[in-house]
Amino acid sequence: MKYEIKINHAEKSKIDEVDFNNLPFGKFFSDHMFIADYTDGGWKNFRIEPFHNLSLHPATSAFHYGQAIFEGLKAQKDSAGNALVFRPESNAKRFNLSAERMGMPSLPEGLFTQAIEEIVRIDHQWIPSGELSSLYIRPFMMAVDEYVGIKESDDYTFIIFTSPVGAYYSSPVKVFISEDYIRAFPGGVGFAKCAGNYGASLLPLRFAKQKGYDQVLWLDGIEKKYFQECGTMNVFFVINNILITPPLEGGTILDGVTRNSVIALARKQGYIVEERDISTDEFFRELALGHVQEAFGAGTAATIAPIIGIGFHDKYFELPAIETRVISTAVKKELFAIKSGEIADEFGWMLKIPIAVHQAD
Ligand SMILES: *Cc1c(COP(=O)(O)O)cnc(C)c1O
Repeated sequence: MKYEIKINHAEKSKIDEVDFNNLPFGKFFSDHMFIADYTDGGWKNFRIEPFHNLSLHPATSAFHYGQAIFEGLKAQKDSAGNALVFRPESNAKRFNLSAERMGMPSLPEGLFTQAIEEIVRIDHQWIPSGELSSLYIRPFMMAVDEYVGIKESDDYTFIIFTSPVGAYYSSPVKVFISEDYIRAFPGGVGFAKCAGNYGASLLPLRFAKQKGYDQVLWLDGIEKKYFQECGTMNVFFVINNILITPPLEGGTILDGVTRNSVIALARKQGYIVEERDISTDEFFRELALGHVQEAFGAGTAATIAPIIGIGFHDKYFELPAIETRVISTAVKKELFAIKSGEIADEFGWMLKIPIAVHQAD
């Protein structure tokens, strides 16, 4: 089904104000945004408008009670100039899981994907070239009832904007294992990409940074023993040539699209992958025996972020040099080649958006 989307073009592009050779993450925004309203029990008013600020009532429900969810995905260009969006259907599905958990209305997956297609097409000139750069796409939904009191909102707004970005981390990351702060509990909202999860992670992140680390490595909330996630990335370890990542069961970690892709590619390349609990005891025992070969975070923003060191209590543990990391290097290489259209998309992951090539004038 095709949805009717009204388009109001920006009068003047801001693209000349942006230095595409020097793109910090998430600071520049493309010319347009997609908006849809949920009122009277249905989604309506699908429109693309020039990028602009919102005007919201101070009692807007999302500010006070946190019904706010988001997604993040990326587009690149292939060598022929077509836009390629990585696995938007997976983000559409996850968006609705988040919406359901937060008592928010679901959004038709076809609308989510079509809106992304149109917003990327209209601002395709904002897609940076270069292997590490891309157009970051940020869909989000918030409760917009103007009302003080705790109830599910009746009205919601869904928006997508895009932002040209460079690499998220410029060097391998150091992570600190948090025992004082817990990200998610069984029965909670750990599997949802809801705004509150990130607000709650900022203070622990500040403490980790004060100790010289880049990210928090989260443990489970019950035994404070099992690894969960690394900041806002899923976490992977390679021990004795086996790729290990914490399981989705229990609902405390995010079902990352990058996580899912890394698992699929590693298996295809012949590596053994285990989705299972892995404890700090097991990890440090294997590390002491010299069996830990790799550790990395996986997420859309950073793609694959090698972990070079881990802090636990007051000790710092250095992990093997990046050049020795066979599995993450091989998986990352294939993932990048698929995303940029260099090799065949055998998993059917890419949404290809043909871009009409204009005659030079
Ligand atoms: C977004 C996110 C991830 C990564 O998910 P991707 O779909 O790979 O981007 C992992 N963990 C958390 C907590 C996240 O918010």
